Amino acid sequence: MKYKLAAPAYGKTVGDEIDLDYSDPAVQLNVTAGVLIQTGKPGTMNCPACEAEGKKRHTKLADQAEVDAHYGEHHKGLVAPEWKEEVN
Ligand SMILES: [Zn+2]
Repeated sequence: MKYKLAAPAYGKTVGDEIDLDYSDPAVQLNVTAGVLIQTGKPGTMNCPACEAEGKKRHTKLADQAEVDAHYGEHHKGLVAPEWKEEVN
């Protein structure tokens, strides 16, 4: 899945699209930095923390409330990423 950066990360600038490599420690750090924007269909963004942990069943996060609730329940200690739907 492609993500568009909402903040500089991985040596790239805002607006760049990246393919996340969840084995990359920088990506795992990004889970706490909160810079992901959904660029696919709404409701299709996988939880990046679950993916980083290698969970087979990924949680789909459809809005900020779901992100916050999911992180509060399953990823205590991680800062929930800011959820944004791409606006053209
Ligand atoms: Zn998760």
